[in-house]
Amino acid sequence: MGFFSKSADKNNDNEKDKWRDKYLNLLDTQELSEKAHKEVQELLCKAIVRLTIAASGVDPQLEPHLKRIRNHLKNDIDSHQLKAELENLTNAINRLNDVSLNGQHTDTDISLLFAFLLQRYTSVKQQQDLNLLKENCKSPVDHQRLFSAIVEIIKDEATGKQSAEQLSEKPPPFQQPIDPFFVNTQLLQLLEHIEIPDAFIQKVQALKQQLAMQEATLSHESILGSVISLLIEINANSQPKQQDIDKFLAHITEQLTELGLAITGSGAALMDASLNRSKLDQSVSEQMSDLQNRSIHATQLEPLKEVISSRIAQITQEIQEHKQKEAVQRENYQHQLEELSQKINAMESETGELKSKLITANTHALRDALTDLPNRQAYDERLITEIARWQRYHTPLCLVVWDIDFFKNINDQFGHQIGDKVLVHVACQFSGHIRKADFIARFGGEEFTMLLPHTNKHLALKVAEKFRSLIEQNHLNVNDIPLSITISCGITQFIKGDTHETAFARADQALYRAKEQGRNQCCMS
Ligand code: GH3
Ligand code: MG
Ligand code: MG
Repeated sequence: MGFFSKSADKNNDNEKDKWRDKYLNLLDTQELSEKAHKEVQELLCKAIVRLTIAASGVDPQLEPHLKRIRNHLKNDIDSHQLKAELENLTNAINRLNDVSLNGQHTDTDISLLFAFLLQRYTSVKQQQDLNLLKENCKSPVDHQRLFSAIVEIIKDEATGKQSAEQLSEKPPPFQQPIDPFFVNTQLLQLLEHIEIPDAFIQKVQALKQQLAMQEATLSHESILGSVISLLIEINANSQPKQQDIDKFLAHITEQLTELGLAITGSGAALMDASLNRSKLDQSVSEQMSDLQNRSIHATQLEPLKEVISSRIAQITQEIQEHKQKEAVQRENYQHQLEELSQKINAMESETGELKSKLITANTHALRDALTDLPNRQAYDERLITEIARWQRYHTPLCLVVWDIDFFKNINDQFGHQIGDKVLVHVACQFSGHIRKADFIARFGGEEFTMLLPHTNKHLALKVAEKFRSLIEQNHLNVNDIPLSITISCGITQFIKGDTHETAFARADQALYRAKEQGRNQCCMS
């Protein structure tokens, strides 16, 4: 074997050393690289832990993420989980940024909530209803309405109407990953925005805490289940209350309607009460609108009942006071009205008496008491009228002056009383037969004056003759003895430039002539 074998062995050894060195070098390099990588990883982990510690207390929404990231870093690092957690944290920070940028909470993103519900509640009807609700859910979200609608859709299953098989059935696996934190946040917002009756406040608080903590032990599905059952419970509890409130409000409305009728029905005729009434109306309508506001915003029946009862009592009292005032006023007005009516009646009868007295007085003033013919004053007044008419229209006007013949003898023979009877008898003949347009008056003693408008002296003579003849023929019975009475007259027609005196003087001259010529005759002048 000699030289060849020795050199071959040597060559072989060199090759081995060469590869070993290369391997050891590579190992050293890898060790160094791994060491460096581990150092970097440790440094990064420390940095992340420090960052999570530094970020603690910034916002409660971030806390569960930070806590979970720290837990992951303490244990074996699963890069996929860490990546997912870091992404969740980034999303949470982004959401915080949205809130702080807008200065207000952004609308609830209900899409994930619906995604979860659609996976959890799988009947055809529920799916249809949920999809319809999701489509019709407009921004901004009305949480109260959304809550009621969701409860309405899922309540049958959630209240235990589903079968045992259905209950044991596990929900189908999620087809898309759902951020449980996000769902919890939405549930939190939903709980924040709905009205919670006092009896449920504690339960809701506990649930909110669970949601806020994002506890790893509870699946979001079970929390959602708890939230839904609680909401259904609240809904079931609030419905009878609402019915109670509705019933109570219907009763109140009835009472108020009755009161309204009482107001409008009483004493509507009293005009002066309108001021008081409008004050009352204003007060009642103010209280009614206050009640309406309170009713709309009421969630609790008892306090509402108290407020309404006290207001009703107040309104009733005001109406009663108003009615009492009205009754007193009505009574006062009645008295005043009666007094006024009595006064008016008294005044009316007084006026009537005065009027008739005046008429009587006037009549007496213008009438002759014995014969009831117009007297001298009446004659003077009528004369003015007739002269004025004669002067204006130039129609003829005649004056006749009458005097009973030998009247002194009648007085002397039968006494003054019979003389008066003769005067009355002659006056009756005149007044009984004179034309409407003509005028006769007792001028004084046993003298009478007659005015004949629209009559010339020839016609006047005929009229006078008629009267003369009438008196001559109509005897007056004195002690069953017919007494012959005659009368004479002087007639004149008013002529241009005449006054009463000149005309009267002419008539008087004519009368004198009639006496002179034998009496019982009419003479013209
Ligand atoms: P003669 O025909 O000329 O007219 O005659 P006579 O008697 O009528 O004359 P005279 O005129 O002088 O008389 C009038 C009388 O009438 C005088 C007076 O006593 C009387 N006499 C006047 N007024 C009344 C009266 O009111 N009643 C009565 N009974 N007599 C009266
Ligand atoms: Mg005479
Ligand atoms: Mg005479």
